[in-house]
Amino acid sequence: MTRAYLALGGNVGDVAQAFRMSLATLRAHDHVNVLQESPIYRTPPWGVTEQPDFLNMVAEIETDLSAHDLLDLCLEIERASGRVREQRWGPRTIDLDVIAYGDEIISDARLSVPHPHAHERAFVLAPLADIAPDMMIAGKRVRDWLAQVDASGLHRL
Ligand code: ATP
Ligand code: CA
Ligand code: CA
Repeated sequence: MTRAYLALGGNVGDVAQAFRMSLATLRAHDHVNVLQESPIYRTPPWGVTEQPDFLNMVAEIETDLSAHDLLDLCLEIERASGRVREQRWGPRTIDLDVIAYGDEIISDARLSVPHPHAHERAFVLAPLADIAPDMMIAGKRVRDWLAQVDASGLHRL
């Protein structure tokens, strides 16, 4: 089994319900155990800022799926919740990213892990620090990355 971290986010429709559905799907999956769920945060949009606030959270799982099969599962869950892929970083019902997959470093056309932006995004680092503060990303602990980013707009629900 490989320990992995997933980041959930969304800003269209009933996002909390989409989180519940996603986590239920993960919990019910034969090849996934959900180990920890972070609190949910309300966060300002990143990248494309002219859009509603997001809800964000992270989950710690263990799985015997390959990293690419885990990515496919995430994309499947997004599709099942009605995500329509339009603008990058734009509004979405739910986005499910693989933040880390064990200690593996993967960078190919479909998948980059650790997620290349995780360590600069307060909306990933804050919930991650709640459940895995000592986890290492890009050579540094999550808690130390969090201390370096602007987390002032985040509100834990
Ligand atoms: P960002 O990746 O900057 O958070 P995004 O989540 O808005 O942006 P999407 O449109 O959801 O981007 O995803 C585009 C593609 O990114 C996916 O189809 C997937 O193949 C690829 N991808 C690469 N690495 C990852 C990863 N670690 N987790 C999820 N998707 C990834
Ligand atoms: Ca994303
Ligand atoms: Ca994504």
